[in-house]
Amino acid sequence: MSFFGKKKNFTTRDSWKITRSCLDLILECSRSNYPNEFGGLLRVGHDNKDVINEIVILPGTVAGESHAIFQLHMLPIDFSIVGTVHSHPSYSPRPSNADLHLFQKHGKVHIIAAKPYTEDSWKAYSYNGEKVEMSII
Ligand code: ZN
Repeated sequence: MSFFGKKKNFTTRDSWKITRSCLDLILECSRSNYPNEFGGLLRVGHDNKDVINEIVILPGTVAGESHAIFQLHMLPIDFSIVGTVHSHPSYSPRPSNADLHLFQKHGKVHIIAAKPYTEDSWKAYSYNGEKVEMSII
C-alpha cells in the first residue's frame, strides 16, 4: 500500500487537463526556485477528477540538481492528489532515473517543468514514464 493507493487501482487515461492558473503557478514556482528544483503534488477538483486545479507545495522538499526528493511520508492520505510536479534547472524536461523511480511509486500523472519555464517547456508523464497529453483549460 503506497501513499497513493494500490497500483491495481491505476487507470490509464487518454488525457488530463490542468487549469491555466495552476500551470501558471507551477511555472512561477519553478522560476522563483531556480537554480534549485521546486517540488509539489498535483491535486484534482472535487467535481471534476480529470482536472488538476491545485498544487500542494511540499515545505520539506529537498532539492538536488538532477532529481527531486519528495518527503511523502509527512503527508496525510488524500485521494484528491493524483501525482507530482517538479522543476528541472536545465532545458530538459526528460525524467531522470530517480524521477522514473518516483513516478512508479507515487501517483498517476507527473509534470516536469524545464527552463525557461514557459508554456512550451513542460511535459506530463504517466506512472511508467510515458508522455501523456495534458490540455490547459
Ligand atoms: Zn527530475
